[in-house]
Amino acid sequence: MIFNKTYSGFKTAWEGLNLTLKHLFGPNSKREVKPIQSENYFTQLEKGTNTIQYPKQQIPIPEVGRYQLDVEIDDCIVCDLCAKACPVDCIDIESIKATEAIGQTSDGSTKRLYAAKFNIDMAKCMYCGLCTVVCPTECITMTNLYDRTTRDLDELTYKFSTMTPQEAEEKRAAFDKQQAEKLAAKQAAMKKKEGDQS
Ligand code: SF4
Ligand code: SF4
Repeated sequence: MIFNKTYSGFKTAWEGLNLTLKHLFGPNSKREVKPIQSENYFTQLEKGTNTIQYPKQQIPIPEVGRYQLDVEIDDCIVCDLCAKACPVDCIDIESIKATEAIGQTSDGSTKRLYAAKFNIDMAKCMYCGLCTVVCPTECITMTNLYDRTTRDLDELTYKFSTMTPQEAEEKRAAFDKQQAEKLAAKQAAMKKKEGDQS
């Protein structure tokens, strides 16, 4: 009984040591930078070291990689659908109504809202891609850019709006003025109608 346990202990220790030695002296060739489609992409990981000299060397990533988000703000109609679809609420949009149509997106959609704020907190994003699925103009996309290393967490909030706070204030004031004028005109018309009837 004791003999069996001792034998088993030595056997297990020897197998563990053997594995360690194999991985200590086995990988004597450096990993090459190859795309995943290469035939020996995985076999080289068994024979060579697993690291590369990043960032000097970089492993090719698929063109359809779904990494950092990007927004083509000129094509955004500020519908807020992406923000509503986001499961972690990392898209923060503030819209301002325009006094008239302000142009068209590249797919022909009419723009009636300004994006005073369009922030995406990539530190919270879980890369599910839902925002890109619901976007009616396909202007929010996942790119193959993955490395935006930073020491400052604030820098992971990507800001896509090009509007300054002063411009936003002007747009808000213009819309409020238009609404006030419309209301005054409506009230004047009602007064006139009441005067005509009496
Ligand atoms: S990818 Fe997912 S988690 Fe990230 S912003 Fe879009 S919806 Fe939100
Ligand atoms: S869903 Fe698309 S068009 Fe709508 S606010 Fe988001 S990015 Fe803009």
